[in-house]
Amino acid sequence: MIRSLLIAGAALMATAPAVAAPPAPSGLRPDQAAFRELYRELIETNTTLSSGSCTLAAEKLAVRLKAAGYTDREMEVVVPPGQPKQGALVATLAGTDPRLKPILLLAHIDVVEANRADWERDPFTLVEENGFFYARGALDDKAMAAAFADNMIRYKREGFKPKRSLRLALTCGEETPDNFNGVE
Ligand SMILES: [Zn+2]
Repeated sequence: MIRSLLIAGAALMATAPAVAAPPAPSGLRPDQAAFRELYRELIETNTTLSSGSCTLAAEKLAVRLKAAGYTDREMEVVVPPGQPKQGALVATLAGTDPRLKPILLLAHIDVVEANRADWERDPFTLVEENGFFYARGALDDKAMAAAFADNMIRYKREGFKPKRSLRLALTCGEETPDNFNGVE
């Protein structure tokens, strides 16, 4: 059921008109440009409770982790029963010492509602002006979620082997815990 919903969602995405990403500022190193693109994609994936989907955001991040080398055994999009849009991404970079407890990198990917009429700029477009980012979730909490995901990608690409395992958990429902709290 969940799988078919995801496929249906992906099909809808594929038929939607393509929107070209605005050009990133020039002068960025390739790794910086890659981070900016990950951050932009996360920002521009609506994850409000009313009309968004954390599951879709988690799936998009999972594609990036997989491209960096994470196997299906090392990561999972966790979709809770009865909450098809409240999915989370969990990924592990195995440590060299299994006796040590892992370090948890925890951030939430859901955002508070954003009414376009209340905003000067589109809240679901990443806008950079005078050195500041403007968008719903630009700081809380998609900046942290994007930085954690980017770190996990870099570690994998560089072959970094931490002593402790690193566990990434990007969860939903932090802003609307009365409905569902992904951390629990
Ligand atoms: Zn928050």
